[in-house]
Amino acid sequence: MAEKKTTERKTAAKASRTGTAAKKAKSPKTDKTTRTGAAAKTAKTKAAKAKAAKAVKKVEEAVLEVREEAKLKDRLNTVLEYDLHTTPEEASAQQMYKALARVVNEQLRQRYIDFKKTKEKAEQRDDVKKVYYICMEYLMGQSLRNNLFNLGEMEEVREILEGSGLTLEEVFDCEPDAGLGNGGLGRLAACFLSTMTTDGYDATGFSLRYEYGLFKQKIVDGWQVELPDNWLPGGHVWLNENADDPFDVTFYGTYQEYWTEEGLKFNLENPQVVQAVPYDMYISGYETKTTNKLRLWKAVDSDGFDMATFNSGDFTRAAQKNNSAEVITKVLYPADNIEEGKELRLKQQYFMVSASCQNIVRDHYKIYGTLDNFHKKNVIHINDTHPALSIPELMRIFMDDYGCSWDYAWERVVNTVSYTNHTVLAEALEKWNDSLVRGLMPRIYVIIQEINRRFRDEMNQKFPGDWGKIDYISPLGDNQVRMANLAVLGSHRVNGVSALHSKILQDDLFHDFYLADPDKFTNVTNGIAYRRWLCQSNPGLAELLDETIGPDYRTDYHRLADFERFVRDETVLDRLEEIKHANKVRFADKVKSVQGVDLDPDSIFVVQAKRLHEYKRQLLNALRIISRYQALKADPNLDMRPETYLFAAKSAPNYYLAKSVIQLISKISEEIEQDPRIREKLKVVFLENYSVSMAEHLMPAADISEQISTAGKEASGTGNMKLMINGAVTIGTMDGANVEIYDAVGPENIFIFGKRVEEIRKILSEGYNSGAVYSNDPVLKAAVDRLSEGFAGMSFQNLKDYLLKPGYSIADPYMCLLDFADYCRVHDEMFAVYEDRRRWNSMSVVNIAKAYRFAADSSIQNYADQIWNTRPVLSI
Ligand SMILES: *Cc1c(COP(=O)(O)O)cnc(C)c1O
Repeated sequence: MAEKKTTERKTAAKASRTGTAAKKAKSPKTDKTTRTGAAAKTAKTKAAKAKAAKAVKKVEEAVLEVREEAKLKDRLNTVLEYDLHTTPEEASAQQMYKALARVVNEQLRQRYIDFKKTKEKAEQRDDVKKVYYICMEYLMGQSLRNNLFNLGEMEEVREILEGSGLTLEEVFDCEPDAGLGNGGLGRLAACFLSTMTTDGYDATGFSLRYEYGLFKQKIVDGWQVELPDNWLPGGHVWLNENADDPFDVTFYGTYQEYWTEEGLKFNLENPQVVQAVPYDMYISGYETKTTNKLRLWKAVDSDGFDMATFNSGDFTRAAQKNNSAEVITKVLYPADNIEEGKELRLKQQYFMVSASCQNIVRDHYKIYGTLDNFHKKNVIHINDTHPALSIPELMRIFMDDYGCSWDYAWERVVNTVSYTNHTVLAEALEKWNDSLVRGLMPRIYVIIQEINRRFRDEMNQKFPGDWGKIDYISPLGDNQVRMANLAVLGSHRVNGVSALHSKILQDDLFHDFYLADPDKFTNVTNGIAYRRWLCQSNPGLAELLDETIGPDYRTDYHRLADFERFVRDETVLDRLEEIKHANKVRFADKVKSVQGVDLDPDSIFVVQAKRLHEYKRQLLNALRIISRYQALKADPNLDMRPETYLFAAKSAPNYYLAKSVIQLISKISEEIEQDPRIREKLKVVFLENYSVSMAEHLMPAADISEQISTAGKEASGTGNMKLMINGAVTIGTMDGANVEIYDAVGPENIFIFGKRVEEIRKILSEGYNSGAVYSNDPVLKAAVDRLSEGFAGMSFQNLKDYLLKPGYSIADPYMCLLDFADYCRVHDEMFAVYEDRRRWNSMSVVNIAKAYRFAADSSIQNYADQIWNTRPVLSI
């Protein structure tokens, strides 16, 4: 089935490429006329011709495929010989990686060029738009395996490697992760771009070419230390520089307005102009000709090297000047869900936004010669508020560069831009000081002021005289630019990332906006690229699915639901158990080789892998482990299956409390290791340097998925989805997408604990007293008290204070203590169920089957229908 479908799709793609698509005409109007003329031919002739053409094309296609296969091997040999001066037999894994990456990149470039013709045809359709997804982060991970898998070249390369004595895994391990993101937000952008490509959309990602991605984490005496992530030496093979297509981005300068006969004009003197040079990473889709790109901007000094300063003898200053531009794209800010408010960060944002928006408008104008239809042909999606300056920047481009009026520009900008909110945490909401924005981008600031003025007028019509409300939702106020307000009022659609989160936006964070314009708000629950997170990273499970439900689930995510039919099939349940065990062995080997730690694959693997943040409550997990440890100390003969607690998490470098929690986990681990009786039953491992690659190894090995954030704080979560689709069962709170996982699998296939959002709201309004909870629960009290004594000789009094005490304005702000007892109760229940292996494995089946709901394909379909109003260029 899958075979047939593929052939059909390929034929269709080819046909549309070689069809009427004329060379891009200079005048779009002339072009249109020609096409109308062609359409006037009788339908009959057309059909006959098409049939004949189809037959010819099928043959061509087959020939092409054989040729492509031969080409891969030949090209690889050529690159190895002439570029790397080696042979397939003698190449190191490193050289093989480089050569393969180069060859695959070439293939993708060719496919991108071929796909252009399909896109050009679609430019005349009025149901298709170009989708631009702008995001400060794209957490891409490795590319080689993904691309080989998508292009269907995995087996061929495996065969080629057989002669070389190298394994695929060895070669894949040579590729550094493209870690251009912090966590969930950046990984979502990567999953979406990949899925939009598989699903046939004309989509482009925009971001920055950070020279250093997210830091590498080392744990030294339990404490997180950050090392630079210099990924380009191994990663640049995927980046295609386009040095002759740069854009200028303007900063600073003295801004002046003056009146002329033609109206108000402005002048900007002595600005700093920085060149944005694009680096394109081609994005492959699964079994499709669709090929898109992620365009990453590098900042370069616009005049190149300052020869004048250099010639005057001041070499250092010349070098520094060069640096001041290039520093913009030097490093990714390593904080997730925390705002820093640094000028360089704002500079990064405007740099990305300005280059991307100029690029989008220019490309549109090149095709159509007008901006009249801009919003009908383009979608600009801003992922979180970081790219919200797109709104004033587009206004600037329309007015200053293309001479449009305010009203003409505003209508088009708002109807093009849509915005996804990712958090309701106060500490994560972006606010920039007026003076900073005005100094850095004087023209943009003036435009924001005008947006602000007009918005307040409009709101005064809606809520006459209600200035409290109007002040609160204005983009300017308290001498700050509030990016969330700017993003909402400048977009035609706003969405949250799970049903619960979207509801909180409407009821709470954006309530007044919602009252003013309820239709603007919608929900699109996050999703994952399951071809990566299941088919590629868990080949054992993928094979079982192929055998049971057939391979169609790889292209049609709905089919995954068919797996539920096997919920009582003993053979399948046993197979599932074997696969999980094999994955645990494989993961244990990996951990042994990179960290030197032994894991017992027969123990139960409990996994909490995500950024370290108070709201995610790794501390709650740790407290429960402490009380587990205390119980074992009291009775070392406790009859229990060995438990392995796996933590993986990076903390923002200056987030002291989060770093303390990492240290606590490490020190608990260290102390347990010193006790031979206890370490057989209880093992705590902090996995160093969590990354996409690690996640790909870890998710398939997990038995239990810990999703224990304070209700109302986790917008969605996607780690929960990755673990679920790999058969792990969730213990979690009613938060983010956990709520929808609960709806999907039913109460008997998930373990829910803790206070609900409404309960928490009520408790907070009455005054939360963590001390009372602590005093009334002896088990909890003992665990919290143990923090003072500490572990492996290190006290964690600071964490006890955080949970109970003054010094912190609110004790236990994320309510670890409140949910502790229920967490322990449900955890015990879960461990008991785990011992019923049949029951557990059928829970696993239900989780895998129902994970179809969290395929990114479903999210993208919803974005296309509810927000973007577009369709694929090439449909499956
Ligand atoms: C999926 C993913 C995340 C997001 O995890 P959450 O549990 O949703 O916070 C973070 N980091 C990496 C490397 C991921 O792959």
